[in-house]
Amino acid sequence: MFKINQNYQKLPGSYLFSTIAQKVSAFTASHPDKEIIRLGIGDVTQPLAPAVIAAMHQAVDEMGNAATFHGYAPDLGYGFLRDAIAEHDYKSRGCAVSPDEIFVSDGAKSDSANIQEIFGQENRIAVCDPVYPVYVDSNVMAGRTGDYDSKAETWSNVIYMPCTMENGFVPEFPKETPDMVYLCLPNNPTGTTIPKAKLQEWVDYANKVGAVIIYDAAYEAYISEPDVAHSIYECEGAKTCAIELKSFSKNAGFTGVRLGYTVVPKELKCGEVSLHQMWARRHGTKFNGAPYIVQRAGEATYSPEGKAQLREQVAYYMKNAAAIKNGLKDAGYTVFGGVNAPYIWLKTPGNMTSWEFFDYLLEQANVVGTPGSGFGPSGEGYFRLTAFGTYENTLAALKRIQEL
Ligand SMILES: *Cc1c(COP(=O)(O)O)cnc(C)c1O
Repeated sequence: MFKINQNYQKLPGSYLFSTIAQKVSAFTASHPDKEIIRLGIGDVTQPLAPAVIAAMHQAVDEMGNAATFHGYAPDLGYGFLRDAIAEHDYKSRGCAVSPDEIFVSDGAKSDSANIQEIFGQENRIAVCDPVYPVYVDSNVMAGRTGDYDSKAETWSNVIYMPCTMENGFVPEFPKETPDMVYLCLPNNPTGTTIPKAKLQEWVDYANKVGAVIIYDAAYEAYISEPDVAHSIYECEGAKTCAIELKSFSKNAGFTGVRLGYTVVPKELKCGEVSLHQMWARRHGTKFNGAPYIVQRAGEATYSPEGKAQLREQVAYYMKNAAAIKNGLKDAGYTVFGGVNAPYIWLKTPGNMTSWEFFDYLLEQANVVGTPGSGFGPSGEGYFRLTAFGTYENTLAALKRIQEL
């Protein structure tokens, strides 16, 4: 008789976004006349940039011609894309990341879930609380997190770093020493980030205690303040302790196109063993490469036109973010984020729980957001709104909230 991976049985029941979807469909079923505005899930709404579309069209035509057809992509990524990434995301910022340290993938969600595979079972992970759920759940599936305490909503073998109003959403070094530290900066869900000097302290800490930092930079394109690092490799010593994950989803609207990459520096070693070689082995065995058409689309995001068009797209969403942030502030809310990330993190009014505020907003304003408690216990009493909607919807939602 076959056995299942029992670790899956430990995962707590309902996934945040399916609970939200159920509540929203129950509400629309009983109130068919109400028009819902969704500022919940972090998905983009703007179409792909013209430079990206042109590159995709051209790549499609190449695929229809025997002389220019492409089969399997090189499993670590096409040279043209890895070169463009190294040049524009790293060299231009003074980071020495070479093209062969860049592993092209189908997105940062899968990379952030898969990266734990090359680490031992006995490693202890540290995560920010609230957290992007993938980091914890992928370690649960691998059997690394111990037992779930359903009351506290925590795992016995996970180190939590609370990020709240009280510490300005800056994770502090934990009392217990972690082996793997997940950092997402600028942060989903809080929309906040930390100055480069603070990130340097984390790099120094990791090098000192022998921990690896899994650095998720999915929202890098939204950074607007000058003292914030765009890559962890801007910090001295990061190449011996950090893996960086990037995605084309949020900066270029590739959520439905699928493209990302992971940097594993050659200097990153455990004793004599190179993690770069391990990840290359893993990638080569389990992944057959991102599609040629999509990698050409990714390359186009680095052309002068592509860059200008994406800057406009990011500015569009950040205009939404500023509108939500200022509008809520004027209405008396305490709000965070929205300056270096497309998320607004607000304190629920009148000591409502996150889910109470969710229901209140859904029923009274017909606006859908995301309860902070869904991202971890320290998210209780907070609520996330995204700036990824259209400008018109964003303003309409804001007006409804202001009129409550
Ligand atoms: C959206 C997001 C990603 C990107 O995921 P893709 O799989 O590349 O679409 C990664 N990390 C965080 C924290 C995100 O919010």
